[in-house]
Amino acid sequence: MAAVTKLCKADDNNEKCHNEATAMCHHCSRDLCLDHIIKHAQLLDANNHAILKDYFSILTDLSSKIESLLISTDILNDPFVKIKQWGIEAHHQIDEIIEKKCQEIEMKIEDYRQIFNAIRTEQLDKITRYKQKIADLFRETQIANKAISNLERSIKHIQNDLNIFNEHKIEVTSNRPLIHSINIRMHVDNWKPSNCCSSSSSSTSSSVSSIIHQLEFRLKYVRLSGIVTCHYILVEVNGTIGDLIDKFIAIQEKTLMIKQKRDSFLAVEANQYRVRQRFQNDIQLKSIFNKIDQLILYETPFELNINNLQQYCLILCRFQNGLPWDIQFGLPILLQVPRFQCRGRNVIDALNKTLKTCFPLLIDDKNNIHYEVKIVSNDHQMNEATLLDLWADKIIDDYLLMADNETLIVNLINNNEILLNDQTTRLARLDGTLKTTEKRRKSRK
Ligand SMILES: [Zn+2]
Ligand SMILES: [Zn+2]
Repeated sequence: MAAVTKLCKADDNNEKCHNEATAMCHHCSRDLCLDHIIKHAQLLDANNHAILKDYFSILTDLSSKIESLLISTDILNDPFVKIKQWGIEAHHQIDEIIEKKCQEIEMKIEDYRQIFNAIRTEQLDKITRYKQKIADLFRETQIANKAISNLERSIKHIQNDLNIFNEHKIEVTSNRPLIHSINIRMHVDNWKPSNCCSSSSSSTSSSVSSIIHQLEFRLKYVRLSGIVTCHYILVEVNGTIGDLIDKFIAIQEKTLMIKQKRDSFLAVEANQYRVRQRFQNDIQLKSIFNKIDQLILYETPFELNINNLQQYCLILCRFQNGLPWDIQFGLPILLQVPRFQCRGRNVIDALNKTLKTCFPLLIDDKNNIHYEVKIVSNDHQMNEATLLDLWADKIIDDYLLMADNETLIVNLINNNEILLNDQTTRLARLDGTLKTTEKRRKSRK
């Protein structure tokens, strides 16, 4: 079979080439003759060279820009300016307080002067009276012993009363902690430290611990009452989650006089929608610094020791839909249920208790609320939700072995919205997989 002859597709200034095409250019998919393919290749080469030259000069520009970068005055000067400014304002405020308190002291002194004078006048009156008494006694022919002893007692009284002035004082006490507090904080949240130093060829790349000595963590603390507070905790760079909790406890103790134990806290990474991971106390802080979503510290309903953890387990759950006024909780909440022989009823009770705590006035008729639950985790999402009432009397121990990154998603459903019969047909395990035995059992029905 004879080869089909193709003509060269090149046209120089609208002048068509009549040579036979010898090859196709992979760049523009045109058939070209030998002459033109060489010319075309030279042209492309020249273009590429020009582009590379451009890139080279862009990189040169960037490198001189980066080399000439200096630490900004925002960092070098502003903190000093700010702290001096703060100092001036704080001094000013303190001066104002001193002035006000001096006026108070003067008023107190004025009040005291009245009291002091009253006491003094009273004592002087007594002395005048006793002197008069003595003058009277001088004139009498017989002086009764009783009169002498009465006088002696009265004089003793006056002598003793002189001491009461020593016990008077106007006290100046300062409250702790001082009203004025100031913190220095470094924000490098967009810096992701490279932790692969050994594989990196650059000698200047550094790990977190060789650069900074302390890590600052922003954490949210969730009380059992549902109250959430935000805290900044400074910890040694080689510290652990446990150290961070200890630091938090120390601060709480200093400011609120509350003594807590490390075992009464659960640290997790979470966002509004779910828990990403639970942290053991021995997790190195530098391995999570600036890498996690939000650090949440939960106050736990029991101490997390082996004994308690054999009896109870903690589930993190998120209310999704159906809360009054369509409220969305800011964070997942903690539920406590029995570890063994746990029934659906126990989870329902724990959910009721939580809602009662958070909405004491709105959630009164517990029988009217039903819970639809499903579990989500990092890697899988369970699509089928299960009505918890169907599991009320069933032992659900198997489903409580939730992984550290799993969250129980809860929807509230009103009484009139549910049809129990429909639910049974789409009954699924809490962990999302439908057991084959269950399927078989159903098909036999
Ligand atoms: Zn081409
Ligand atoms: Zn040609």
